Formats: sequence, C-alpha cells, structure tokens
Amino acid sequence: MNAESAPPVTAVSGVGDKSAAHLAKLGIQTVFDLINHVPFRYEDYEPRRVEDLTHDERATLIGRVQSEPSVRYFGKKKTRLTFRIETGGVLVTVTVFNRAFLKRQITQGALVTVSGKFDKHRLQLTAQQVYKGEPSESGKLAPVYSVTSDINMTQLKKWIQEGLKAYGEEVPELLPAPLLERYRLPTRAEALFEIHRPSSREALKHARRRIVYEEFFLFQLKLLAYKQYQRRGEDKTPLVFDRDQVDQFMASLPFTLTKAQHRVIQEVLQDMSSDLRMNRLLQGDVGSGKTLVALIAVYAAVTAGKQAALMVPTEILAEQHAEEAEKWLASFGVKCALLTGSMTAKEKRKRYEALEAHQLDLVIGTHALIQPDVPFHDLGLVITDEQHRFGVRQRRVLKEKGASPDVLFMTATPIPRTMSITSFGDMDVSSIDELPAGRKPIETYWAKPDMLERVVGFMKKELAAGRQAYVICPLIEESEQLDVQNAVDVHQMMQELLPTHQIGLMHGRLPAEEKEGVMASFAAGEAHVLVSTTVVEVGVNVPNATMMLIYDADRFGLAQLHQLRGRVGRGEHQSYCILLAEPSSENGQERMRIMTETNDGFVLSERDLELRGPGDFFGDKQSGLPDFQMADPVHDKRALETARADVAALTSSEEFWSAGAYPKLWAYLEDAGVFQEEKLD
Ligand code: ADP
Ligand code: MG
Repeated sequence: MNAESAPPVTAVSGVGDKSAAHLAKLGIQTVFDLINHVPFRYEDYEPRRVEDLTHDERATLIGRVQSEPSVRYFGKKKTRLTFRIETGGVLVTVTVFNRAFLKRQITQGALVTVSGKFDKHRLQLTAQQVYKGEPSESGKLAPVYSVTSDINMTQLKKWIQEGLKAYGEEVPELLPAPLLERYRLPTRAEALFEIHRPSSREALKHARRRIVYEEFFLFQLKLLAYKQYQRRGEDKTPLVFDRDQVDQFMASLPFTLTKAQHRVIQEVLQDMSSDLRMNRLLQGDVGSGKTLVALIAVYAAVTAGKQAALMVPTEILAEQHAEEAEKWLASFGVKCALLTGSMTAKEKRKRYEALEAHQLDLVIGTHALIQPDVPFHDLGLVITDEQHRFGVRQRRVLKEKGASPDVLFMTATPIPRTMSITSFGDMDVSSIDELPAGRKPIETYWAKPDMLERVVGFMKKELAAGRQAYVICPLIEESEQLDVQNAVDVHQMMQELLPTHQIGLMHGRLPAEEKEGVMASFAAGEAHVLVSTTVVEVGVNVPNATMMLIYDADRFGLAQLHQLRGRVGRGEHQSYCILLAEPSSENGQERMRIMTETNDGFVLSERDLELRGPGDFFGDKQSGLPDFQMADPVHDKRALETARADVAALTSSEEFWSAGAYPKLWAYLEDAGVFQEEKLD
C-alpha cells in the first residue's frame, strides 16, 4: 500500500484529531490502515437448538414470547427483566439485566432473537442481545475488533463503515490478476467490504481466503525476493569439486548410506556447484547421519581447493566431531583441527597461522571460530551444527569470513513444514527422514516418581550387562546455583543406590577441562552412570549407553525431551528412556504420552507445534515469526503451501526481474526494504 498518497484517517467523516490520536495507538494512521484493520474474530448469532447446546455455552435462540415480561428492581437502579420463550418445543426463561425499557417491545406471541449465556440445568438464558424478529443474514455474524480503552467497538465499526463507503473502491489491488482468476479470489476491495460486514457465511469464507492467501503471498514474496536478490548480487564462484574422489570417499565407508542421505548429499553438492550461494537447512533426527553428510560436503569442498569450517555449540561436541572427522577424512589427506575457547592463546595462534597458510582444510570449533582475528585462506563452506543454538548474528559472522561461502545449517529438531516455510523461507530445506538400517527404536516409559526403586532395579540390570546409563536432572530455570545443587544431590543419591558403580557428574559450572575429563571417562566406560544437567543434550555420542532416566520430565518440551532421548539408542543394543514425572497439567500428561508413543522427530515437532502454538515454538531466541492479521500458519497450512509455490515460481522467473513487469509488487518490496543493503532477518 502506498502510504504517501493515502488520505489521513481524519478524512473519514466522524474522525477528529482526538480520535485520530487514539487510532494511532492501534497503528491506524491512514484511511487504508483503518479499512485494513480486520476483525480478529466474529460473534456468531446463528440461532441454535436447545438440544445441541452445552451448559454455560454462549448461544443464540429464536422463539415466541410465552409470558408477559416482568421487571424486578434491586439495588440502586438495577433491574432484572424476565420472560419465557418457546423455542423448538422447549420453554426457556430469558433474563436481561438493566434494560427494563425492553419491556414494551416484548409482547406475548412476538418472535424474538436472544443471545447470551445458556444455563442448561435451569433452561435459562442470560441475554446480552435481544431483538424482535429473526436476525438478518448479515446480523448473524458480528465482527469483533481489537480496540483500546479510548475507542469503543461501536464507534470503530461506524468509522470503518464510513471509511469503506468513501474509499473502499480505491483500495489498491496487489495480487497479479492471473492468480486471482486461478483461485477465483475476490479483489482486495471486495474482500474488505465482506470482511467488515459479512453478507453470508459463504461469502465471508471467500473473503477470508483471499486475505489469508494475500498475507502468505506477500510474506513469502519478501523472503524469496530477498533471497534471490541477494544471491543474484553475489559473485560466488561455483565449486569445481572432484566427483570421483567424493564417490570413492563414500564407497570407503564401512556402511551404506541411506537413501535419504544420498538424496540430501545430491542436493548439497548441486548447490555447491551452482553459481548461487548455498543457503540450506539440513534437518534430520538424532542419529540420522547428518554429521556424515556434512563431512562428505567438506570433502567435496576440499577437493575443490577450499577450506571448510564446522561450528558447534559446545566443546564436547566439537571434540566428538573432530574425532569423527579425523577418523573418516584423515586417510583421504584432509587436514582437520579443533579450535575452541579453552585453548591457550599460543595454541590458538598456531591454528590461525595454519589456517592462513592453508595448511588446514577443516576447522571444527565453538564460538572461538567467529572471533575477529581468525583468518581463513579460502573459506568455501560453512557448516553450523545444532543451528538453533546460535543467534542469527553469530551464524552470519562466520559466513562473512569467506567470499560468499556456501552455508549449511544442521538441526536435529525437525521443523514442521509450515514453520520451515514461514520462518526459514529464505533457506532451502533438506530432510533426512530415515534412520540407518538396523537401529532399534528406543522404548520409552513414563513412570511416577514413587516408582524410582523399580526404575533403579532396571538400571542395575542394564549396568550388570555392561551397558551405561544417563540420569538427567531437571533444569531449574531460576538459578544456575540451584541447578548445580540439584545435580550434586541426585549424584549423591545415585551413588548411594548404586554403591558398586562409578557415577560421573556433569553440569554447566564445571571448568571446561573437568567436563572433558568426565565425558571422556564416561565415553571410555570407566564411569557407568552419568548424572547430568541438560548440557549433554546436544550431539554427544556414547553408543554403549542404553538407558536414559529423565527426572521431572514434564518440565521439558517435546523437542528437548526428544533431543535428550537421542543420546541413547546409538549402538547395537536395545535402549530405554524412562520419563520420571507426575505432571499436574493436561498438557504435561499429553507430552508424556506422546513421548511414549513415537520416536519420530517429525511427528513430535508437529505435535509440539500444536501444543505450544507457533509463537512459543522456537522460544525467544528465534521467534521472528510474522504477525499475520487473519492467516494462521498452522490452521491455513494449505493456503501457505500454495502461496509458497506461487511465489517461488514467480520469483524464479526472469520476467519478474525484468524492469517494469510487476510494478506494484516491486513498489511493495521497495517499501518493505527488501532491495536495501541492510539485511532483513
Ligand atoms: P546425527 O548427527 O544426525 O545425530 P550422526 O551423523 O552423529 O547423526 O550419526 C550417528 C551415528 O551413525 C554415527 O556413529 C555415524 O557414523 C553412524 N552412521 C551415519 N550414517 C550411517 C549409515 N548410513 N549407516 C550406518 N551408520 C551410520
Ligand atoms: Mg549430530
């Protein structure tokens, strides 16, 4: 919408300067802002049948008046009007407070419509609305708007109607005509008239469909146009890697790659050899073999003469990845090294020199990688593991260490399709939706805290069989101090319960060196049980651990529980996860049930989204979700998919980028800052 040419809201009759100031608080400045202020819901005045109602429900009834209304006076100026109506063969008592004047209109035998809260036990309705006759078709659906304390709804409705009358026909149309035709969508102007005063349910549905589609369309347009614009402006040189060598490397692995791994590697290699920079999210359940895919991409980059960097959120994980990289890649001549914050300045300097001289091909590390003085000779590939642990800025800094390096993000928290389109719309997404053959699904049980003894008995059996176990302590959000104390207590208790076993203790307050020691001794099988806070959550790999006990499991979200559970089930033995919890909330119980029912991260993430709603899904780190006016990415999933596909087709056409082809969309994108230098995020 072109803001400059739009008349101010005071152009609407009845809106003065004072009202305009109040409207400004709702973000309404121009006439078009006013008309575009759509209702957030509708009050439903469709008449119902008494049989279909539940107790205390809000409902509308139509009936004939069966008794003279009577009025009682009580308190100061308070009145109660009562009368009976007959509706569908049932007698219902209607009560109206403080509107005694209605008495004259309610005559015996008259047809009336009443709306309010229905008391099923007493067959009584406390009415907010009473009027004679049947409701008109448009009266059955009343828009409800968000307002402030300074503006009342009746006023706002009147202004909107006035605004529509005077300017409704001038509402600009942004959507390309062929799309309107293809989906038989009303114009924006038509849709708005309908939205603000529905003529029928059916027409309202179409109008809403139009607005929802447009909201998704414009949002996707911003993301995809931005992505294309950025990439068209970069001069990335396609990587020329040695496909034969890459194939040889894959063939050298002691196992066959899954179909999903093959597919994803193909997608990644394709991106790397293209002249548009790769910006890809790789999602796959824990243990689905993402790291290996990453290492294959690294190897490809190295055969193209480039350096690669792999950034992970914790030192433990960095070490494990470095080991894995060393194991697979060293014999192929790839020089790998670790770079972490706990290294001495001298060690770091040695790494920097090696990087700058291109004596290193792959560097694996934590935040230490994005320090300003880390020099790369020719960084061609940047991989971020467990990407949700990093902020947007951190990921970008690493990327900027190369000249348009390809970027691959990895996550074990699968993102539901709807979310990946909305908040990762500027990335391409690859999914590994298959585990390597022969993995036994983890058996998950939900136990009440008073069953701890039995659980420990079970643990003893596993330990006697030579296996190992994790015990996860609940996170105490309020205080890291309590968090640590808690872990210390649980450790003490486990030691008493399992006196003949070695119990390790891990928490965030331990110095890095000690953490490493604890982890190493658990990985080597010296410690049999590891009591830990959630620091073991990401990526840690100890295949001999077959049991995970999670204290107060209901304090965790589904995604996190699934992450934790992924620490077991990584070897050949059957693994178990025990959720120790007595949730008081419905939601908590539901989460425990879902965990026992499925091991599929994609299913879990969809359920997580349903239970938490899109706003909470990513926590605050990464919300960045748009505030749609009418559209709901979860509910209107299909419209979202459709808009996404349409926008993708549009923005990848040369026509779209040729001057003057889509002037309105281009003006919209310019207004939105898409073609400016600063980044959107
Ligand atoms: P993720 O990073 O997705 O959690 P990893 O890459 O750590 O998973 O893989 C888990 C384990 O499975 C590793 O030990 C890895 O070597 C092994 N692995 C990876 N791909 C396969 C495969 N296709 N078949 C068998 N084992 C595999
Ligand atoms: Mg991993």
